[in-house]
Amino acid sequence: MKGRQIAGLVIGLIMIFLGIGAYFSGEPSSQTTEGRIAIGFVMLLGLMAILGAVSEPSKKPAQAPQTVTTVQTVQTVVEPLPPPPPDMLAGAKCTACGREVQADFVACPFCGNSLKAKCPSCGKQVQPEFVACPYCGKALR
Ligand SMILES: [Zn+2]
Ligand SMILES: [Zn+2]
Repeated sequence: MKGRQIAGLVIGLIMIFLGIGAYFSGEPSSQTTEGRIAIGFVMLLGLMAILGAVSEPSKKPAQAPQTVTTVQTVQTVVEPLPPPPPDMLAGAKCTACGREVQADFVACPFCGNSLKAKCPSCGKQVQPEFVACPYCGKALR
């Protein structure tokens, strides 16, 4: 027996004896539920100390064989980012300055060019670069 085991046994026995002694001491504090729980806890700790001391030698040789953890190379499949959703509003270009503007812009925010012209004859929307209204044939320039 090793010193540690003996110490564990002694500590456990002392704790159990202390618990028994406290239980039968007749002290009012030990007769309450809390006191009994505390005594039971102390005795349980003592029991665990004894069990730990006794079972220690059998634990150490029973070391789990080193499981060779096969380091699986986690194949992080770097999926290519999906193409950004086609922005239906972007892509239009100002006919005057050539800068990109949103398709629903009425006027170019950069140069003030009118991007959405209306046919003065039929009122339908026409592109500013149209020379004639495609709906009514009115010459726009
Ligand atoms: Zn512009
Ligand atoms: Zn028209």
